[in-house]
Amino acid sequence: MSGFFVESWSLDFACPILVSMSSPTIVWFRQDLRLHDNAALAAALEQARNIVPLYIWAPEEEKDRPVGGASKWWLHHALADLAQQLQHYSLRLIIRQGPTEKALREVAKETGALRIYWNRRYEPQTIQRDSRLKSQLQDDGFAVESFNSSLLVEPWRVAKQGGGPYKVYTPYSKEVLSHPLPDPVQVPVETAIGPNKWPASLELEQLALLPKIPWDRGFYDAWNPTRKGGIERMQRFVERDAAHYEQQRNLPGEDGTSRLSPYLHHGQLGPREVVAALGKRAEKGGGHTFLKELIWREFGYHILYHFPKTPRESLNERFREFPWVDDPKSLQAWQKGQTGYPIVDAGMRQLWQTGWMHNRVRMVVGSLLVKHLLIGWQEGEAWFWDTLVDADLASNVLGWQWVAGSGADAAPYFRIFNPMTQAEKFDPEGAYIRRWVPELAKLPNKYLQAPWTAPANVLEYAGVELGEHYPWPIIDHRKGRQRALDAFERVKKGNR
Ligand SMILES: Cc1cc2nc3c(=O)[nH]c(=O)nc-3n(C[C@H](O)[C@H](O)[C@H](O)COP(=O)(O)OP(=O)(O)OC[C@H]3O[C@@H](n4cnc5c(N)ncnc54)[C@H](O)[C@@H]3O)c2cc1C
Repeated sequence: MSGFFVESWSLDFACPILVSMSSPTIVWFRQDLRLHDNAALAAALEQARNIVPLYIWAPEEEKDRPVGGASKWWLHHALADLAQQLQHYSLRLIIRQGPTEKALREVAKETGALRIYWNRRYEPQTIQRDSRLKSQLQDDGFAVESFNSSLLVEPWRVAKQGGGPYKVYTPYSKEVLSHPLPDPVQVPVETAIGPNKWPASLELEQLALLPKIPWDRGFYDAWNPTRKGGIERMQRFVERDAAHYEQQRNLPGEDGTSRLSPYLHHGQLGPREVVAALGKRAEKGGGHTFLKELIWREFGYHILYHFPKTPRESLNERFREFPWVDDPKSLQAWQKGQTGYPIVDAGMRQLWQTGWMHNRVRMVVGSLLVKHLLIGWQEGEAWFWDTLVDADLASNVLGWQWVAGSGADAAPYFRIFNPMTQAEKFDPEGAYIRRWVPELAKLPNKYLQAPWTAPANVLEYAGVELGEHYPWPIIDHRKGRQRALDAFERVKKGNR
């Protein structure tokens, strides 16, 4: 049988314990930092009007990956915004520090709450922690329920004909799209009231999420990390850009993609809301292509859930012993956007300065690291994790294993992006390179993708001295390509 599993996952079962209707419900916010389309909040309000909105900062429990630097920046602003939205309804966001179980029990005791509701997360070790928490709290008489507010289809609801998880995107997406997608959940948030007495809360600043060294200045120009910022982007995208998405989405110099990824990761927007905003546009053309990108996000969670070791090891076991090169100097040049390949350096600098990089360029920079430089995909994944505002375990691991050729539905090992032809094709006028690598701005288009091919007088006129203002290529493209092909060929043969 193919199709959605009909059984509800055990964590979904309503607890039979009867609780007093006047006791408040703790709504534990995590990666669902919104009041709309929030299933846990809606369910809490069905039970009783009193709620205690709670956020717990427990980085030591984030065993899959502690939240990275750029994501912490986003989280700070998202929490501030959530607190402000709650204030609009005369509610508060209670902030506590972990351990989570202790914080939940303390807040429950202080407010008389007997119900604790949350929306599910899907990182392997978080699932284990949450399941443990749930049964311990239930054993002590709390009514604990969890819900879905992050995904269109939870990972265990889709299976291949004959059973088992999908490893290939196209049949997975066909299966997902052959069923109606869920509507947003209505939340009567205006009916909510607080507990009889509000418990104490930490100040957001006490979590120290913002950087001490101000590397985040560019982030403020690039983003409005609030729910309102996300709604504005979503509306602009569906009304203006979705129609051109197919033509524009691969052009990093254009503002042609939605840039909704950080809002989706932190849950300021939910995918159900995005699908609803697309409406009929999702049926064809650019809107449909965009919907299929959203399904890649779902596919990432499907893979992560069914293959929980993929954040650490290659899905394709042939890659597990791959002799990646230990080369800290090249890794650092890549991280700093100093590889001498302009499209790669533009991407790495966009990442550093704004916390985001265009998807096409993520693939190109990843390919240079993993293939030309033979540095393990885990190094790239770790750097992205720390520097992306949309760092998301499922999508990041999926993306990196795709680039390396070791993952689900991955690029074949012999697909080695040529950074020059990628730039010619997708940044033909050089708008992207000129913006992020300004020291090359005066070079004519003809030499912009490969400054080392420019004649001396052209370089001089553009004010570029290679090795002085801009590096020589870190590795010769043809040599790097051949070295990668040889190394990957050995993997293919299983002969290392
Ligand atoms: C090496 C690598 C690492 C990546 N790491 C992350 C990550 O940590 N977090 C993250 O959200 N995305 C990641 N991606 C996927 C993709 O690059 C981003 O989702 C996309 O660039 C976000 O920009 P956007 O919102 O404008 O995308 P749009 O083109 O507007 O797409 C809409 C939404 O669809 C989803 N989506 C699009 N492409 C993908 C994809 N390939 N995989 C999964 N979801 C996708 C995202 O949620 C995105 O917001 C990675 C890709 C690669 C190649």
